[in-house]
Amino acid sequence: MIELRARRVWLRLAEEVVIARARERHAEVIQVELRYGSAVGFGEGAPAARFGETPDETLAYLRDPATSGLVGRDPFALETVSSEFARVAGQRAASAAIDAALHDLVGQLLGQPVWRLYGLTRSAPATAWTVSLADPDAMARAAETAVRSYRRLKLKLGGRDGLDLERVRAVRAITAAPLQVDVNEAWTFEEAGEALAELAALGVDLCEQPLHAGDPHGPALKARSPIPIFVDEDCRTPADVAACRERAHGVNVKLAKCGGIRQALKLVAAARATGLALMLGCTAESSLGTAAACQIASLFDYVDLDGNLKLRRDPWAGLELTDGVQRASGRPGLGVEPAAAPPLEQLGGLYFTRARPLLRRVYHRLREHRP
Ligand SMILES: [Mg+2]
Repeated sequence: MIELRARRVWLRLAEEVVIARARERHAEVIQVELRYGSAVGFGEGAPAARFGETPDETLAYLRDPATSGLVGRDPFALETVSSEFARVAGQRAASAAIDAALHDLVGQLLGQPVWRLYGLTRSAPATAWTVSLADPDAMARAAETAVRSYRRLKLKLGGRDGLDLERVRAVRAITAAPLQVDVNEAWTFEEAGEALAELAALGVDLCEQPLHAGDPHGPALKARSPIPIFVDEDCRTPADVAACRERAHGVNVKLAKCGGIRQALKLVAAARATGLALMLGCTAESSLGTAAACQIASLFDYVDLDGNLKLRRDPWAGLELTDGVQRASGRPGLGVEPAAAPPLEQLGGLYFTRARPLLRRVYHRLREHRP
């Protein structure tokens, strides 16, 4: 039998992350541990509030004995397990965590990194660095710092204040680096039509999710857009690809959204078959979550895997970041391991800046993810 354990992990962000619909200073992810004999596989899933998933519900689902039953007894039964979880509504993060842990387990049992098991390479396009939604000057300053380390920027737009194009102009004024924008569903059809022409003139490579998911104007906007439109909130699982083809030139694939590596590979195949371009995305997550995505990054045209790079302290280590490219390691499985414990003075500092109950909560969660 495979023994399943799940825990909630609290991640503090180095800076506040702001997008059109939310602002976050911390994130909560669910990490799972699968024990099979003496081998242990780890995986992570980030519940997406946008799709109605919460850490509480994901954790409760993973601790339900029936979920262990779905994982079964054979760690090599990746396809069976992935298909079973794909039929469970509203548990994409849980599915992604289980799928990642099974891949980690299989890789360790065979002594190979997951990218090698799939016949892939660990090469990847340079990751975009996401610049939070802020006033134009602040975004330009953030971009100026980011381009010292990263080769591509993703600007978060959708301020609903008439300043979105000013934001892009301010950033373009300080860098010639490749730019993409993500509106997170905030524009109307009319706003998007005008903005896309300006974005093309500013040399922006692509625009992500300009309209609300399912907006009936999607196909008309695609027909008139001078730059590629990618959808994210519109595209969750392989079943969404056909509809996305009508409204976009590309799709943003995230493991926590589709349910893991195997579902992502199906999405990739479906998207390629219909001529869609591919972006590999992420959410706020640790290097454990990002490591699963890195295994298949070589299949994508664009990579936006900076979630782990935005943490104040990443509880997992093992990914390589070189010249703006995040790569999986060459070690078996997902190739990451728990990072060293935080220095005591860091915990002491928190004591004086945060209320005591919160410190206790953080401390126990930091302890929790040490195996
Ligand atoms: Mg997006």
